[in-house]
Amino acid sequence: MFRFRTKKNRWRYAAAGVAAAALLLGTIAYMALTPVPEGVVILEYHMVEDDDGLASDERPYNVPPAEFAAQLDYLQQQGYETITMQDYMRARKGKQELPERAVALTFDDGYEDNYTEVWPSLAQRDMKATIYMVTNDIGRPRYLDWNELRDLQAHGIEIGSHTANHQLLTTLDEATQIDELRLSKLLLEWNGIHTVYSFSYPNGAYDATLPAKLQQEEYLNAVTGDAGVNTMTTDPYLLQRVNIPHPRFGLLEFKLRLWKANLFTRLGWNQHQLS
Ligand SMILES: [Zn+2]
Repeated sequence: MFRFRTKKNRWRYAAAGVAAAALLLGTIAYMALTPVPEGVVILEYHMVEDDDGLASDERPYNVPPAEFAAQLDYLQQQGYETITMQDYMRARKGKQELPERAVALTFDDGYEDNYTEVWPSLAQRDMKATIYMVTNDIGRPRYLDWNELRDLQAHGIEIGSHTANHQLLTTLDEATQIDELRLSKLLLEWNGIHTVYSFSYPNGAYDATLPAKLQQEEYLNAVTGDAGVNTMTTDPYLLQRVNIPHPRFGLLEFKLRLWKANLFTRLGWNQHQLS
């Protein structure tokens, strides 16, 4: 005889079901009733191209173009407006108003598909983004070249630094860390990129000393790979992102990632607040 068929157990399952439903309804009501905090969602992308040309270890970092387009459409339907990282920093200083629902689209590594696939999709929707370049990869096969970078910049895309060589900063001695920050910024600026204020840690790796070094090298902000939404009091050198990997469950997965990030902000669960 199956134990769960007893009357007593049936009641237990029913009670558990009611409790789960109540929790879900409570969360939905909480999301609907509490005001949206002054938060900025920063999405983290890498590649946007067809999976066919990619090695299997690259695919987790790739969002196929059709899925990417669906994500952008969803953001627009939800009333999100895109901003660059500099827009966010200007807003923190009271120099710019942010849209009610602000989202920053960020792209690490600077793959050429950011020009051939991402940029046309953004332009169609009048959207902006920030692209973080590894300066020693610029112009290599599959990476953006200088002309593409200057063209993107001319169309409102912000170019930031992702270091010179994409080494994990936490594994380098101090002098090499400074070189990675300084040389990448200088090289971009010497080649016609506007003053570089925004930075992305390679593989999201940082330590307690790096914010001060970034500040000393005249960066104004840095993004990590830590999950979360940012407010106006998040440490500007430890900004959090919502990673968008290769979708396994289509647009639903994207919606859930956004929803979860917003919930955490409402609950005040963001880390890295300035004390
Ligand atoms: Zn990277």
